[in-house]
Amino acid sequence: MTHPTTREARTALRIHGARLVDGTGSPPVDDAVITVDAQGTITYAGPAATEPTTADRPADLRVVDAAGRTVLPGFFDCHVHLAYAHGSPPGRRAELDPVLVTLDTVTRLRQTLDAGVTSARDLGGLSTGFRTAVESGRVVGPRLSTAVRIISHTGGHADVRLPDGTDLSAGMSEIADTADEARLAVRRVLREGADLVKICATGGMGSPYDQPDDEGLLEEEIRAVVDEARRHGGKPVAAHAQGNAGILNALRGGVTSIEHGYGLDERALDLAGEREAFVVPTLSTVYAGIDKETMPDFHYQKKTRWSGITKENIARAIEYGARIALGTDAAVGPHGVNLMELSYLVDLGMDPMAAIVAGTRTSAELLGVADRLGTLTAGRTADLILCDGDPLRDIGVLGDPANVVCVVQDGVVRKDLLPAAGPAGRR
Ligand SMILES: [Zn+2]
Repeated sequence: MTHPTTREARTALRIHGARLVDGTGSPPVDDAVITVDAQGTITYAGPAATEPTTADRPADLRVVDAAGRTVLPGFFDCHVHLAYAHGSPPGRRAELDPVLVTLDTVTRLRQTLDAGVTSARDLGGLSTGFRTAVESGRVVGPRLSTAVRIISHTGGHADVRLPDGTDLSAGMSEIADTADEARLAVRRVLREGADLVKICATGGMGSPYDQPDDEGLLEEEIRAVVDEARRHGGKPVAAHAQGNAGILNALRGGVTSIEHGYGLDERALDLAGEREAFVVPTLSTVYAGIDKETMPDFHYQKKTRWSGITKENIARAIEYGARIALGTDAAVGPHGVNLMELSYLVDLGMDPMAAIVAGTRTSAELLGVADRLGTLTAGRTADLILCDGDPLRDIGVLGDPANVVCVVQDGVVRKDLLPAAGPAGRR
């Protein structure tokens, strides 16, 4: 089945004149050339001066003059909730007609892609149908991996039940209170096609009756989750973990990534380093996710109390050289401005080049796709963006989607704000 409305034709591409920041952390290349073949594979990325001469030019080669712009890999957002509107607590979704949820989710997919994010990992609430819809060309959006649901203990961060027992999670919660139940919960989400497993190792901000320092699943339960995921092809495990005790439980249990990590101390950093675990600090929730007007009071109080702690600890993690990947927790903060997260990382001491690597190569490593995505080198898949200005001088340019003038995904131009190419531009 083909879906002609969204399956734009691929053409071979030649981008010239841009400054190349390739996602590996190598120094930028001025006056670079990037060529992409008609199958969507990068055939060259480097200085114009050393571009190999090819005998024949593809007939419908699209040539892009990108002088004054920077070309970068398509970015990753490793922590989003695309099925939820910004500022709307999980319970509110249950009030909406599923059709509206779906249509709004499709809009958010497009906004996220237009922000420069060509790959996104959804950590709760998004069914695998959206992943299939993007893969099959039914809708346009970042290529998706999804945890589908969140495993939490009774009364834990993702248990969204009213006192009368009504479940407001709209199918997002998976409850487990023993190691055996944790295994069963993993099997349930994998049955639905989840790409990874999401657990709650601590309480959180948006849950009314727990604190970020409260512990979630027990270490032995986390170990059971990790083992069950391993038995199914080695699926990664992402742990919502804010307070340090739960962070340590999650790391000792063997998770792949610490999500938020607001309270992590030096011991946790050492352990994360030993275990080669990733940290996804979701600073957008601190910098852009606090709004007294719309948040319940308990949520506002917790966020403001934790804001300073978060900045201090994540700044230390950056200085320490933790393996940081980019994630925003979009839905807690606004959708479609995902790359603002880069500015927050830089605000806490990260070098702009390192922030770009966090959002590209390191994130691709977390998702297990670094052999084809996350860097711009020959042989990789052509996921790339063009942005106005120089993000190495002002990382903030990437945070405004208006500056992201072109988004190419898998060799297909998905967003194009470039000046219309005249006859000379399309040779
Ligand atoms: Zn989240």
